[in-house]
Amino acid sequence: MRRVYLNDTTLRDGEQTPGVAFSAQRKVRLAMLLDEAGVDGIEVGTPAMGGQERDAVEAVCALGLKARVSTWNRSLAADVRASLDCGARQVHIALPVSDRQLERKLGKSRSWALGAFTEAALCAREGGAAFTAGAEDASRADEAFLLEFAQCAAVLGAERLRYADTVGVLEPLGTWRRIRRLCRGQPLPVEIHTHNDFGLATANSLAAVRGGAAWVSVTVNGLGERAGNAALEEVALALRHLGPYRTGMDLLLLRCLARAVARASRRALPPGKPVVGTQVFTHEAGIHVDGILRDPANYEPFDPAEVGGTRRLVLGKHTGSAALAHILDQAGMSVSREEARELLPLVREGAIRAGGSVDLAQLRALLSSGRPG
Ligand SMILES: [Zn+2]
Repeated sequence: MRRVYLNDTTLRDGEQTPGVAFSAQRKVRLAMLLDEAGVDGIEVGTPAMGGQERDAVEAVCALGLKARVSTWNRSLAADVRASLDCGARQVHIALPVSDRQLERKLGKSRSWALGAFTEAALCAREGGAAFTAGAEDASRADEAFLLEFAQCAAVLGAERLRYADTVGVLEPLGTWRRIRRLCRGQPLPVEIHTHNDFGLATANSLAAVRGGAAWVSVTVNGLGERAGNAALEEVALALRHLGPYRTGMDLLLLRCLARAVARASRRALPPGKPVVGTQVFTHEAGIHVDGILRDPANYEPFDPAEVGGTRRLVLGKHTGSAALAHILDQAGMSVSREEARELLPLVREGAIRAGGSVDLAQLRALLSSGRPG
């Protein structure tokens, strides 16, 4: 099983979500949690912003975490110096590589871009910091220029190359082809960085790993601008179960991490959010529950316990008699399958009245008011 490395950017790209702002104290706490959960890298912030952001970066750099802590920088020596001043030993230096962003965002040429990157990279080297190269908007860039940028970064001593699908326009098959060509065409390990504008961030990350990417950029809960980034919890589980690949993650901490980031970002977790949602291990439909009772793998892609979750069977409009008999039995109210079948209409009507599911207290009330016979 190949080892895949996860670089978490919740504290940098995740924080760029409109309306999200982490204090220095919060960044420290989340960085410690991320480290404990086993991510390989933590992108902690952008020191060039100054103010509290610098305090946060400095504090996280001083923690001595197992994960490699890095900062985000434009291709400007001043940005890199701001990172070095915070004690960063690793810096990420980003450069738009699409002609669209170079011309229409910066009003600059390709040769200017390579010159600016070189200057920033040399600044990192002189400061004794390792650096990674960020190809922004790589998915809309000319591939020949992307390779030229990668070669330039390799010669300067970059540790790896980040391929950013900045506006989330990749699809999995194209991602696989592009990343395979990139891995074969230049010497640096590749990190895939995807956005979720079409709901494909996790799929594209997995496709990139299949194409040869060694690292994946992720954020907890997929927190990020617009539709967000590839979600750490989705990528970690998909790599393990659909790869299979190895990561350094302690999967039991994923749900705790998800809740912590949901609180800190003030963005509630949708109940059906893969891996970490409150309802993803809850079953109601008759056929499914019947199948689950025979063997949970019939309707579960992985054991909830693997991520510290608990399987729940609930009663509702779609409940079948097997589930009802089982749930009553668990509650010490044994009935025969035949009796369960007779009780079923009561449960279904109760669920429709309640506009959701029926809990045990409601079930007891229903039974005492309408138990047949
Ligand atoms: Zn991004």
